[in-house]
Amino acid sequence: MNKILEVEDLHVSFSTYGGTVQAVRGVNFYLNKGETLAIVGESGCGKSVTSQAILKLLPNNNVKQLSGSIHFKGTDILKYSEKQMRKIRGAEISMIFQDPMTGLNPTLSIGNQLLEAVQEHQNLSREAAKKTVIDMLHMVGIPSPHERLKQYPYQFSGGMRQRIMIAMALICNPEIIIADEPTTALDVTIQAQIFELFKKIQRETGVSIILITHDLGVVAQVADRIAVMYAGKIVETGTREEIFYHPEHPYTKGLLNSVPRLDMEEEELIPIPGTPPDLFAPPPGCPFTARCPMAMEVCSRVEPFRTKKSASHQVYCWLQDERAKFAFSTTGVRL
Ligand code: SF4
Ligand code: MG
Repeated sequence: MNKILEVEDLHVSFSTYGGTVQAVRGVNFYLNKGETLAIVGESGCGKSVTSQAILKLLPNNNVKQLSGSIHFKGTDILKYSEKQMRKIRGAEISMIFQDPMTGLNPTLSIGNQLLEAVQEHQNLSREAAKKTVIDMLHMVGIPSPHERLKQYPYQFSGGMRQRIMIAMALICNPEIIIADEPTTALDVTIQAQIFELFKKIQRETGVSIILITHDLGVVAQVADRIAVMYAGKIVETGTREEIFYHPEHPYTKGLLNSVPRLDMEEEELIPIPGTPPDLFAPPPGCPFTARCPMAMEVCSRVEPFRTKKSASHQVYCWLQDERAKFAFSTTGVRL
C-alpha cells in the first residue's frame, strides 16, 4: 500500500498559566491511501491535538513546541507557511468536527456555504459549481438537495447537519479527511448511518480517513488500522484484527475490557482504575506505569522501546521486550 501521510516524532506542547503542557510526545504513524486509520484514546490523550497539528489548526499564541515531520505525498507540510497551508486545508486535507454547528456558518444558506467552498478552490462557473454542490449533497444523502439549498443550518437535524459538513469536507476532492469524534453528538442510529456514509464515500472516491475517537465500538465498525494513544504517546498500532483479537499493550487490553460487547454481561465490564499522568510533568518511563497491573521496576524508569509483533503490529511495552529482563539481572546491567 501507498503511504499518503507519515507523521514522525511529532511533539506539541502548549504554554498555559499553569506551566507547559506536553500534549503530544513523540508520535509516529502513517496513513495508507484509501484506508481508515482510527486514533483511539481517552479524552486528553493528545489525539485531537495530533490531528490539529496535521492541518496546523493549533491555537497559535499558545504553542510552545511544534516539531517533528508530517510528510504529505512526500513533502514535509509541518514546514509550510500559513499561506501554503491554506492551499492544503480543504482542498487536499479536510477536517470534520464533532459539532457541525462550529463548522457551519449559521447566517448563510447551506447552498451558499458549499458554493463558496467550491469556488475558493476550484475554477468553476457558477452553474458548474452549483451542479457540484447538488451532486455532493445527493451523495451524502440529503433528500431533494435542489429544494434545500436555500435553507439555513438550523433548519436541518443534527444528523443532516453532519452530512452537510461531510459534503463540505468532500467538495474539493481532498485526499485525506480527518474526522474528530464526528458522531459523538448524534444518537446511535444516526451514528451508524454516518459511518455507513463514510464507507460508501471511501469506496466511491478512494479518500483516506483519519478517525479520532474514544469509542471502540465505532472503531470496530470502520477502522482498517488502529493507533492507541495514551498520555501523548502512541502505545500500540495494528490492524483492526490485531488490536481487537491480539492486543498486547496492557492499556489496549484495559480499554477493550471496559467496553460493552454483545457477548458480555454488563457486570463483566472492568474500568481501568486510576487516571492518566499529569502532562504538565509527565513521569519518566512508561506513561501507563501507575495504572498498569503488570508494571515492573524498569517501567517507571525507562521508556519502553518499540517491539514489532508483525509488519503492521507494533507495541511499546517492556513485557514484549527481551531486554527488560536485564533490568533485573544481578550483573547490574541497567537499561
Ligand atoms: Fe505496563 Fe510496563 Fe508495559 Fe508500561 S511497559 S504497559 S507499565 S508492563
Ligand atoms: Mg478531542
